Amino acid sequence: MNSNRLRTAYEARSTGTTAGPAFSSGHGPWLRTDDGTAWFDGTSGSGAATLGHQHPAVVEAAAAQLTRLAHTGCRLNSDPRLRMVRRLGALSPYREPAVLPTVTGSEAVEAALKVARAATGHRSVVGFRHAYHGKTAGALALTWRAEFKRFGAGPHGSVFTAALPDPRRPYEDGAHLYEDGSQPCENGSGGTAAGTAAFLSSLTAALDEAERHGGVAAVVLEPIQVTEGVLTVDPALLDLIARAAHDRGALLVLDEIYTGLGRAGRMFTAELMAEVPDLTLVGKTLGNGFPISAVLGERRVMDALPPGVQTSTYSGSPLCCAAASAVLDTLVTQDVPARARSLGRRLGVRLGELAAHHPWMAAVRTAGALAAFDCTRHGRPDPARAEAVVEAASRARLLLFGGGPEGATVKIVPPALLTEYELEFLLRALATAVSDADR
Ligand code: PMP
Repeated sequence: MNSNRLRTAYEARSTGTTAGPAFSSGHGPWLRTDDGTAWFDGTSGSGAATLGHQHPAVVEAAAAQLTRLAHTGCRLNSDPRLRMVRRLGALSPYREPAVLPTVTGSEAVEAALKVARAATGHRSVVGFRHAYHGKTAGALALTWRAEFKRFGAGPHGSVFTAALPDPRRPYEDGAHLYEDGSQPCENGSGGTAAGTAAFLSSLTAALDEAERHGGVAAVVLEPIQVTEGVLTVDPALLDLIARAAHDRGALLVLDEIYTGLGRAGRMFTAELMAEVPDLTLVGKTLGNGFPISAVLGERRVMDALPPGVQTSTYSGSPLCCAAASAVLDTLVTQDVPARARSLGRRLGVRLGELAAHHPWMAAVRTAGALAAFDCTRHGRPDPARAEAVVEAASRARLLLFGGGPEGATVKIVPPALLTEYELEFLLRALATAVSDADR
């Protein structure tokens, strides 16, 4: 029985299908099976293993903590927790930072919604087409994909959705989006005045509706919509959105759970913006494999939420905080954001070369250690070809996920710290996968 059949034999099918075999060890970008076969993890374990699997500094810090004190519960304090929140606050874009530790990304989103409602006194929230913020009720209400929401989603207020410009469309072979998403596709709606005007009117309509339904507490968005296909957003547009939110007395909540802490080439997207987001959410990379996330903001905003209103048993766990402090140290000492940017440039060049030979590859885009392209046929999305690329990559021992709004996107999410040999392996496996899928 293959790994997926085994998993569904014992797990609820709602956990979905898995890629590759069942793994038993890992190191850097590699995941290994018991027989020693190595796979390159081009998913970074859902984007968390930005430093690579089993990063030595993280493993060492966690192992040392494990022998001393793994757990206190969220109401008791610990040294590793104090160290972590101090370190994360100091790295954050806030002058007087307050850190709210949470466990999962979804929980950070839920917590941010509460902070926003407490800080503004408003109820409703504005989100965006193609967004992914998690699968718990409040986060799910902001997640775009309808099939995830069939069995219940809803925060206390209402959610209204605006449509961001799609940086990919219309497809133009050879069109590229490089670093930081700051160069929208030339012919993409994101790059045209008409595209921006259409976006602003959809944002205004959503804000108007939200205002009529209890006022706008928050505008919540990802600076790059990674889960739905690495859809980049022009930083100038982020500033426009921030101002529109502030005009309505709402907070701008930037969900950096995927993009933050170096993954997209910056520690925080705020570095590219004129406005500072009122709340910033981090997760994934923060634990590099340990379940920990956080809401960050100015103390005066964060403290709108009264004591005891936001806790969960494992929030601020000593074990996860020790791991996260080692991650934060490594992000700085290894200059992970710069490493991610240079990886993104290499990936962009190679994907561009491949697209020149395979005209069905469209809208190549990279932002740090995030890359994607869409598969097309006669200018239309071609999900079958995307599936073929992912399968061919798997035969070349490269794990990738497909996806995107039409299922025609191939996403490449490697760890940001790669040796030259590892990068060459990735680039070669991508070339093999693309030419195999051409047949
Ligand atoms: N926000 C964003 C931007 C994400 O990418 C994700 C996870 N893909 C989440 C929230 C939810 O995080 P988690 O799966 O840890 O709950």
